[in-house]
Amino acid sequence: MQVAKDYVNEVYEAVKKRNPNESEFHQAVKEIFDSLVPVFTKHPKYMDNGILERISEPERIITFRVPWVDDQGKVRVNRGFRVQFNSSIGPYKGGIRFHPSVNASIIKFLGFEQIFKNSLTGQPIGGGKGGADFDPKGKSDGEIMRFTQSFMTELCKYIGPDIDIPAGDIGVGAREIGFMFGQYKRIHGGYEAGVLTGKGLEYGGSLNRTEATGYGTVYFVEEMLKDKGLSFAGSTVVVSGSGNVAIYAIEKATQLGAKVAACSDSNGYIYDPNGINLETVKRLKEVERKRISEYVKEHPHAEYYEGCIGIWSIPCDIALPCATQNEINDVSAQILIANGVKAVGEGANMPSKPEAINAFLSNNILFGPAKAANAGGVAVSALEMAQNSMRLSWTSEEVDVKLHEIMINIYQNSMKAAEEYGYPGNLMVGANIAGFIKVADAMVMQGII
Ligand code: GLU
Repeated sequence: MQVAKDYVNEVYEAVKKRNPNESEFHQAVKEIFDSLVPVFTKHPKYMDNGILERISEPERIITFRVPWVDDQGKVRVNRGFRVQFNSSIGPYKGGIRFHPSVNASIIKFLGFEQIFKNSLTGQPIGGGKGGADFDPKGKSDGEIMRFTQSFMTELCKYIGPDIDIPAGDIGVGAREIGFMFGQYKRIHGGYEAGVLTGKGLEYGGSLNRTEATGYGTVYFVEEMLKDKGLSFAGSTVVVSGSGNVAIYAIEKATQLGAKVAACSDSNGYIYDPNGINLETVKRLKEVERKRISEYVKEHPHAEYYEGCIGIWSIPCDIALPCATQNEINDVSAQILIANGVKAVGEGANMPSKPEAINAFLSNNILFGPAKAANAGGVAVSALEMAQNSMRLSWTSEEVDVKLHEIMINIYQNSMKAAEEYGYPGNLMVGANIAGFIKVADAMVMQGII
């Protein structure tokens, strides 16, 4: 019988060879694969069924041209993607990212992680992700609409309420989802509310979907802290980013009695010793779509610094990276640790580099990995799908109670799996294993497909 470690290494080498130059995808695959060694040792049936070989190869990848005309009348072309990674436990589900850095590697790492994240929520959703290398920054509403309509004109051929249900991610919020929904409806005819999530409340959206990822991250970290007799109350928190995840992480952490001292955007970060004024950040980012540097004009006692990495040198008890992938490197992790950080909760997808995760774990810092800690967004997306199917809407309290329960369950299931497989307290390993087992069992039951 093959040794689990050899099996994992062999399949990982094959993944690297088959997907050359896709460093983010390799990184996501390696983290999961390494966590699964104890699972294969205990249950060789997953090796016999070629689960790793199959789970690391997307069921389908769609790449397409997205032509549009800018406000100057110039023809522009972007590249669109949808990765339909795994549909063992439900239809493909995952967001759409519009950002200039988007490429096959980024979409595949996100789609791969989504399989396990969605499984962890306990809901019947498979893994998918999409996006385009389009930069929404500085674009007019008209340009955003034309681009988004062009994107959906192609994407609509591959999605549907029981096939693949996209939602938002970086660069895609309520405005873009609205344009996508309108275009999908226009092409398909008929009203299929369940084809997208993150919709406006007026046309089938769920209360609390906007808040869900940020709130969920804080609920998850609250559980981690509770187990150690700690809490958000009275603590200092640093949140990177100022998008949808960051804003609602700041809101919930503040409601729980923390002081959030800093947040950022892709140009730089602000430090407000009095605690971030969230109303200002919300208006600047959600309404006026301005840069975070504008904050100090209204709050002159606060400081603005160019560049993002410096945010991790601000002393804090709890760090919530909510901006983007690989935003915490080894050096930043060491600074956070030296400054006495107690917990790190990942609101963004894969924000900590592997060296940073190792540093947190080996220094006994509580570490909530993205797949578990930021699963609240997609979990409430699945609740939106459920409401659409039933043609009713739950109250904000009902959704919040369900979200809270889901986050507590994810925490407990991850802790349990970590314990059971010999890594007590290691939520990264626990979340990877707990997310994997449900999908792997479904794959075994469904045969070699
Ligand atoms: N983009 C979010 C994520 O990374 C949400 C996906 C969804 O709601 O489908 O999980």
